[in-house]
Amino acid sequence: MVKRIGIDVGGTNVKIALVDGEGKIIYSNSVPTYAQMGYEYTVNNIKQAIRDLMKETNTDSKDIEAIGFDFPGQVDYKTGVVKLAPNIPGWVNVPIAQMIEEEFHIPTKIDNDVRCAALGEMKFGAGRGCENFICITVGTGIGSGIVINGQLVRGAANAAGEIGHIKLQMNDGPICGCGDTGCLEAFASGPSIVAMAYDYIRGGKSAKFREMAGDGEITPYIVAKAAEAGDPVAKRIFEIVGTYVGMGLVSVINLLNPEKVIVGGGVAEAGDLLLDPIRKTVKERAMAVAGNSVEIVPAELGNHAGVIGASMLGS
Ligand SMILES: [Zn+2]
Repeated sequence: MVKRIGIDVGGTNVKIALVDGEGKIIYSNSVPTYAQMGYEYTVNNIKQAIRDLMKETNTDSKDIEAIGFDFPGQVDYKTGVVKLAPNIPGWVNVPIAQMIEEEFHIPTKIDNDVRCAALGEMKFGAGRGCENFICITVGTGIGSGIVINGQLVRGAANAAGEIGHIKLQMNDGPICGCGDTGCLEAFASGPSIVAMAYDYIRGGKSAKFREMAGDGEITPYIVAKAAEAGDPVAKRIFEIVGTYVGMGLVSVINLLNPEKVIVGGGVAEAGDLLLDPIRKTVKERAMAVAGNSVEIVPAELGNHAGVIGASMLGS
């Protein structure tokens, strides 16, 4: 049976998994990133984690078809270089694929986190059997992986898929992390849910999420729990956010006519609270043919999408 290694590098932890040809995780582990120690330190930890994986699973280099890495940031798929990872300080122009290949003599590929998630969903999740789909992740930011004719779309400079920066407001919009204003992400990501929640509280609305958060901070998770418990303000917040995400998707659906939109990420764990207003907006605002033929569905691989998708790079 073919086995591949997937490695998901985040700001706090590096997750590593041995994945079989059916997308099943045979072994998984995680090690701290410790980015502040410099990238060489993290790379050495990753190499040790690969050696540990081989030892624990009784495999060696010839049993492993490929290694794939997933990074939250800008990567060059062709050269295997991490250009910039904003949440992992010090990772600028790091030739990670070459460093790993020299050590283990196993073909190594890298890509960004949303494209790896899309690849995982295409091979083993909600995108199985689908030739044209968008995998959107709604969390702290909003990103997407685009699959057209069964292929991931990377673009001329590996920058395709930035759905979060579709402009929803031409002038005087909220400031976005990208430096521009009026982007979808500035209206509808996790932080905007929290900002809306505090606005409602300041406006004097009695809201269950304040009580549920106790002395702690309000999080998108708490607002979702309050909405599930029937709190009208929390439900309204998800309706607004879902409508914004739907409006962003309308442009993409009109442009690309996908079979499916797969919705994942932390905020999407709220399920139909987020998906229903997206579906409603797409039905009302997309052009008829494209709008009627698209299905809006939840992602299936959850937290494992990163390692599973990364393991399939280059397959
Ligand atoms: Zn932006």
